[in-house]
Amino acid sequence: MSKIVTIKDKQFKPYISQQQISDAVKNIANTINVELEKDLPLFLVVLNGSFMFAADLLKEVSIPCEISFIKVASYHGTTSSGTVTELIGLTEDITGRTVVIVEDIVDTGITLEKLITVLNRKNVKQIKVATVLLKPESYNKEFTIDYFGMKIPNDFVVGYGLDYDGQGRNLKEIYVLA
Ligand code: 5GP
Repeated sequence: MSKIVTIKDKQFKPYISQQQISDAVKNIANTINVELEKDLPLFLVVLNGSFMFAADLLKEVSIPCEISFIKVASYHGTTSSGTVTELIGLTEDITGRTVVIVEDIVDTGITLEKLITVLNRKNVKQIKVATVLLKPESYNKEFTIDYFGMKIPNDFVVGYGLDYDGQGRNLKEIYVLA
């Protein structure tokens, strides 16, 4: 495994190896292949961070499925509820579908909550969540994280799609703040 990497003002040290990531991703795919075999799932890949996970995961998914890429945009609207969440890129009719949200990391779960709220309004059959990393100490929502690669403590990580200030997404391994 490679050594310390410097991104802008910060140093990161190796944390999760390519092999560990690959094993975790295969485990997720194997479970999905069994559980969702008859559901024709639609994988909704949440950009930007999930691009690498999505590519690796979907190569191991062997059941019939569809893939679409979205971005979650939140802005302050003029409604009484304050923030408005919009899904950019979702053009499919997802009524009655099994949707698998593909995330890089679930931290507080706020992003996920917004996404699930919007998807639920579209009368999907069921929503499943797949993420490489989960921070259980920080996660405080009630949604089940159906498929996760690894649980990690509340440390800031980069690599395998995750960035620090826009950089580091291309790293093959996952690194933690040194
Ligand atoms: P949440 O809404 O669950 O608190 O956070 C989700 C988003 O925060 C992730 O999709 C990711 O963009 C960012 N995030 C949370 N923890 C980390 C981390 O350790 N490293 C990086 N690079 N991003 C993180």
